[in-house]
Amino acid sequence: MTISAAAGTDVRAARDRYVSRAVTAPPLVVVGADGARITADDGATYLDFAGGIGCQNLGHGPAGVVRAIHEQVDRYLHQCFMVGMYEPYVEVCRRLAELYPGPGSAYKSVLVNSGAEAVENAVKIARAATGRPAVVAFDRAFHGRTLLTMSLTSKVVPYKRGFGPFAPEVYRAPVSIDALEHLFKADVDPQSVACVVLEPVQGEGGFIPMPLDFPRRLRELCDAHGILYVDDEVQAGVGRTGPVWAIEHYGVTPDLLVAGKSLGGGLPLAAVTGRAELMDAVPVGGLGGTFGGNPVSCAAARVVLGTVATPEFRRRADAVAWTLRTRLDALAADLKEIVEVRGLGPMLAIELPPELVTATIAAARRRGLLLLSCGLRGEAIRLLPPLTISDDDLAEGLGALEAALREAVAS
Ligand code: PLP
Repeated sequence: MTISAAAGTDVRAARDRYVSRAVTAPPLVVVGADGARITADDGATYLDFAGGIGCQNLGHGPAGVVRAIHEQVDRYLHQCFMVGMYEPYVEVCRRLAELYPGPGSAYKSVLVNSGAEAVENAVKIARAATGRPAVVAFDRAFHGRTLLTMSLTSKVVPYKRGFGPFAPEVYRAPVSIDALEHLFKADVDPQSVACVVLEPVQGEGGFIPMPLDFPRRLRELCDAHGILYVDDEVQAGVGRTGPVWAIEHYGVTPDLLVAGKSLGGGLPLAAVTGRAELMDAVPVGGLGGTFGGNPVSCAAARVVLGTVATPEFRRRADAVAWTLRTRLDALAADLKEIVEVRGLGPMLAIELPPELVTATIAAARRRGLLLLSCGLRGEAIRLLPPLTISDDDLAEGLGALEAALREAVAS
C-alpha cells in the first residue's frame, strides 16, 4: 500500500483535531511494517528498536503468525469464551502450562486483553486465594495505567499526577529484603499481604534487572509469611531476555506469572498463569471479560509461544545479546557520558544524562532508527529490536545509535 505525503499531513492534522492530546505520539505516520522495519507515509523507512513498546519480539508480521491470523479470521472472529468455548483459547492455556517456569504442568491460565488487566487479575486471584487484602510493589515498578495498576506503579508523572485517590492497601519498598522486613514491621502486617508483584527486569523503570539473589530471597520471605509471588513478565517475558521467561535466569518458581505485549505477536492478549489450586480459588464467574482471549489473538499467540520456546529462537536471542552487549560496552568505554550499560540477555539499555537521552533519540530518528527512553528521570535508552533481527539490520541500527549518540554528545 502507498499513501501520499498529503494523506500523512491529513493524518497529523486529524490526530490533533480528534485524538486526545493526552495520548502522546511522535510525528511519525506509519503505513507499513515488516520484520525490523517500519515505513512512514513519506516513504522513509526506519529500523524499529521500539517494537510498539516491546510487542514485537518476533518482529513485525512474522510469517507463521500472520498465516495463523488469516486462517483464524476465515473461521470465526469474536466468540467470548463465556458464551462458547473455542480451541485457540484452550490451546494457549495449555502451552502456557507447559512453559511455566516451575515443576510439572499443573498450571492454569486466564486470558485477558492487556498487561494492566492481567496484573489486576493476578491481584484478584491472590486476594481470593489468600483471603488477604494487601499488595506490595517496588520502587521503580511499572504495572500499568488502570486504577489498581497505576497505584502499584512507581512514577508520578505522567502516570499518577491528577489521577488519585489511588487504590488502597498498596505498599511499596525498595528492592531489598531488609527494606521489606522493615515494611512488615513498620507499615503492614505480613499476615495481611496477599502478594508481592515484581518485574524480573524493571522495564519502564529503566531496564533494571533484579540482583541475582533477590528473587530467591523474596521467594523465601513470601513462603515464610504465606504471601504469593506475582512475576510480572509483561515486558521481560515471551523471550525478551532469551529464555521464554526472564525469571528462568533466577531459577525461582513464582506463584502467578503475568504475560502480555509480545504474547499476541502484535494483537492484544495477556495472561495470568499459576498453580491450578490458586487459579481455581476464585469462585466460578469471578474472572473473565468480553474480549479476553480473543480467538484471533490466541491463534497468533499459539505460534508465538511455539516459536520462542525453540532452541533456534534462544540461540538467536543469545547471539543478539552478545552483539548488543559487546558494542554497547565498547561505546561505554569510549564515551564517559554513558553512565551504565545494563539489562539481562538482549534486554539492554544505556543510561545517560536525561538531556542526552532526548537528544540521542531525536538524532537517531533523523538517521532512521526508532528508540524509546525509560527510567524514573527518562535517563535510559532501551533497546527492543526484534530478536529475530538479521545481522545486517542489527549492525545498521547499532551504527545509527552510535552516530546519534556521538552527535548528541558533540552538540
Ligand atoms: N507490566 C509491565 C512490566 C509493563 O511493562 C507494562 C506495559 O508497559 C504493563 C504491565 C502494562 O501493560 P499494558 O500496557 O498492556 O496494559
